[in-house]
Amino acid sequence: MYQRAAVLFRYKALLEANFDPISQLITRENGKTLSEAQGDLRRGIDVVDFACGIAHIGKGESLAQIASTIDGVSSAEPLGVCAGITPFNFPAMVPMWMFPVALACGNAFVLKPSERDPSAALFIAKLLKDAGLPDGVFTVVNGDKEAVDALLAHPSIAAVSFVGSTPIAKYIHETASRHGKRVQALGGAKNHLVVMPDADMDQAVDALIGAAYGSAGERCMAVSVAVAVGEDTADRLVAHLAERVRKIKVADGMDKTAEMGPLVTKQHFEKVKGYVDTGVAEGAKLVVDGRGLKVPGRENGFFLGGCLFDGVQPSMKIYQEEIFGPVLGVSRVKSFEEALAMVNGHEFGNGCCIFTRDGDAAREFANRVQIGMVGINVPIPVPMAFHSFGGWKNSLFGDHHMHGPEGVRFYTRYKAVTQRWPAGIRAGAEFVMPTMK
Ligand code: NAD
Repeated sequence: MYQRAAVLFRYKALLEANFDPISQLITRENGKTLSEAQGDLRRGIDVVDFACGIAHIGKGESLAQIASTIDGVSSAEPLGVCAGITPFNFPAMVPMWMFPVALACGNAFVLKPSERDPSAALFIAKLLKDAGLPDGVFTVVNGDKEAVDALLAHPSIAAVSFVGSTPIAKYIHETASRHGKRVQALGGAKNHLVVMPDADMDQAVDALIGAAYGSAGERCMAVSVAVAVGEDTADRLVAHLAERVRKIKVADGMDKTAEMGPLVTKQHFEKVKGYVDTGVAEGAKLVVDGRGLKVPGRENGFFLGGCLFDGVQPSMKIYQEEIFGPVLGVSRVKSFEEALAMVNGHEFGNGCCIFTRDGDAAREFANRVQIGMVGINVPIPVPMAFHSFGGWKNSLFGDHHMHGPEGVRFYTRYKAVTQRWPAGIRAGAEFVMPTMK
């Protein structure tokens, strides 16, 4: 245990020493802004920090003298070899939600990063070796479906962690479960931010701009629906948002003034642009249209300007499906109850938040909302590494969230030892179930 923690402490130091090259690599390959890439890596390092404390967090339990001369000891034992399959949007953070905890718990780990931006994973894997992790304990396998399917069926893999889109999460959960593996599969999202009439409008608008357009909307915790309660709230919200969305600086991710970079691939750019076309055809009002944007000197890049819809209805495809781009829809509702019903009616349950000054409304919302991660005047309520991350409904298949205490539970299995000492004591033959009598 101590040796594992020692490797992780050295690993953390190496990650800090290589912070700039890793962040730059992420920006060059994924396209996100450098500041976002730094946040990506920082939140991953937070999990390494957490895993360094494994001697404390992985302690089992014991009870001496359960009965005369009998002690009970339970311990969290490793599962064996675990696999992680990760998406393109956080090339450092999402792999690091998994392997630092898995390794700290005593498992070997095979990582299959996204084929769209695998370089950060290879870099951070090399640092694990430099930190003294023995060969073979951590492996990176590159590829797409073929590599994933080989892992899902491999008899030596005991557990599979997945993060990606919902159809693939479902497939991973079903396939790996069929092969007898423990699985946690995190899927897509459609995160709502409810704006109550009493909300601090400037605070809510700042929050929405960052949460909807940060990382060009390619975040599973991005807010993609703003639910305005009351016509007056909606009118003020749309007016303030429109002004701000038009001013978002879209540029090469390495440009220090960039607020949004390009989308990850041409295919993804076309898909997101297609959703904007669909929204217009469905009758939503396109208040800000980012489709014509050209970045000087980068005319062939996959840049899409911020897009803002008003009048988005639950029947529309742009409401029902995850867009995963810089597209925010405003939906207008009459009351708190209508807003809550809307959030709860969506198939996804990753994150959501409410902006209000009313403690009663905030408390009611937190208690009744059917979502895994909830923010009260906090737009992106991503739990820190020492808590656990995960959604509900079609945003997570399996029983365990990632990192924090849930991560430790996922990567271990409990063993309970009941022991009697000294060995020479005779209890006599018992033909009934042992009890405390
Ligand atoms: P994706 O589902 O396309 O790919 C994820 C991983 O699955 C990749 O490693 C990919 O190689 C593999 N994969 C793709 N198709 C496969 C198939 N048919 N069979 C087996 N494996 C396959 O996801 P993406 O586009 O890389 O990432 C974006 C998605 O990830 C969004 O839906 C986003 O919401 C989600 N995401 C969710 C969370 C979360 O915590 N819930 C976090 C980040 C991203």
